[in-house]
Amino acid sequence: MEQFTGKVIYQGIAIGPIRIYTKKERQVKRYKIADPAAEIARFEKACEIASAELASLYEVALRKVGEDNAMIFEVHQMMLADTDFLDSVTHIIRTQEVNAEMAVATTGDNFSAMFAAMDDDYMRARAADVKDVAERLIACLINGSSENELLSEPVILVANDLAPSETVQFDKSHLLAFVTHLGSANSHTAILARTMNLPALIGIKPDPAWNGRLAVVDGYCGTLTIDPEEDYLRQMQEKKAKEEEKRSLLQQLRGKETVTKDGRRMRLYANVGNLSDIHSAMENDAEGIGLFRSEFLYLEKEDFPSEEEQFAVYRTALENMGGKKVIIRTLDIGADKQIDYFGLEKEENPALGFRAIRICLKRPDIFRTQLRALLRASVYGPLSIMFPMIISLDEVRAVKKLLEDVKAELSLQNIPFAPVEIGIMIETPAAAMISDELAAEVDFFSIGTNDLTQYTLAIDRQNPKLDEFYDPKHPAVLRMIQTTVANGHAHGCWVGICGELGANETLTETFLEMGVDELSVSPPLILGLRKRIRELGNAKEDV
Ligand code: PEP
Ligand code: MG
Repeated sequence: MEQFTGKVIYQGIAIGPIRIYTKKERQVKRYKIADPAAEIARFEKACEIASAELASLYEVALRKVGEDNAMIFEVHQMMLADTDFLDSVTHIIRTQEVNAEMAVATTGDNFSAMFAAMDDDYMRARAADVKDVAERLIACLINGSSENELLSEPVILVANDLAPSETVQFDKSHLLAFVTHLGSANSHTAILARTMNLPALIGIKPDPAWNGRLAVVDGYCGTLTIDPEEDYLRQMQEKKAKEEEKRSLLQQLRGKETVTKDGRRMRLYANVGNLSDIHSAMENDAEGIGLFRSEFLYLEKEDFPSEEEQFAVYRTALENMGGKKVIIRTLDIGADKQIDYFGLEKEENPALGFRAIRICLKRPDIFRTQLRALLRASVYGPLSIMFPMIISLDEVRAVKKLLEDVKAELSLQNIPFAPVEIGIMIETPAAAMISDELAAEVDFFSIGTNDLTQYTLAIDRQNPKLDEFYDPKHPAVLRMIQTTVANGHAHGCWVGICGELGANETLTETFLEMGVDELSVSPPLILGLRKRIRELGNAKEDV
């Protein structure tokens, strides 16, 4: 038995086999080969493995998501058999005497650039598919399989690093825990682990030899134990059973009011990133959705989600929540949430860069599509639209103007929509300081303490070296929250908190005293927080 200690990102116990995850985007090294014929044979073997993987993925997808969605794997198989593609790879191996990985990477880049330059939308979208096929082939050449695609049993996922765009691809039912070497406690990947209710550790360097071995993640002590001894395993199984018992006890709080003993109320909403989180929000008795991070819809795709695709998701979210409020935040990409197909330039300081509302105002084509989808969905339930990363009145006025334009366009087309509540995130010190003026423009505020802490304390939330300095309970942050609540209330806005600090039970009483109206937290944390709130305050004596 070997034990490694890291830092806890989310508590919990997981027991199961390890799967080492390696990045899809590989650094392909170029090297000279002595025998091109042997290299071509190696390439052909990789093609056979990749093709078999795609055939089995097609079968799985057919069962899980239907023929239309499974088709993509057939398209990939066709690309893999395309003679132009194959000839190009073998030609490069033969003439340049380089390794197959390099030849595949070069061919993939060339073909993908060719597709990207085409006029036809459908063909342009194939650029990403060619890249995918090339990456699969490279993975097969390097590892003998592209195992990342094939999570078919629940595993403890161990990786060097995980980007949000990678984390969202996993099927939660195949995951037991996350363990990474890099990453910070305040990153979106950490937030996703909490939303998925999966124990997570950082600071443990993966060793490929762990692949497939039984392990235990103790998300209380921060340890990963490989090949646990019988005694330890039994002990951890008992700890896990106790944890599950505690969780099931919390279930008794479903349907109960979120109110202190002395009658102070708090609305308890859920933070979600997709429809499966909505399911978890309902299971945990959320009173509404306080933050739907719509950018995850974009992160899960290889190309811009269409108006129809977005409309279907927003509508389903509203329908599933059965008349409860759903606050959808408009696209908040940039910083750590990077999406290739947006074609954004690399920046020196992405957290202080071109992100969120700044992108939306500069790319109204993208923004209008989302606003149309949102407004069309609004007839299916009480929808609120929330705008991220606001720093000025001008921005708020500009988004409101765009929203009015889109409404006028829908009216002209006789497309129905319902009245929607408009809100903004208060997650920059600028917004907190002018919250009195901003409040006159909108219906509600939601305080994003994750970014508010980052920008107030000048601490990059992505930088693990700064985790110890990242203090969301810093008096400056708490004062900004207090000011925002007071200004919001003075000008007729209700005020919630949707950053991670909202779930911090040591501050629940403080938030109640400040007059915070709503806390929006990861679904698995809702019932525990309700328990905490119901324990606060002195019961009123009967008179
Ligand atoms: C925040 O900044 O607090 C927030 C909720 O938004 P995100 O974590 O997605 O940046
Ligand atoms: Mg934020």
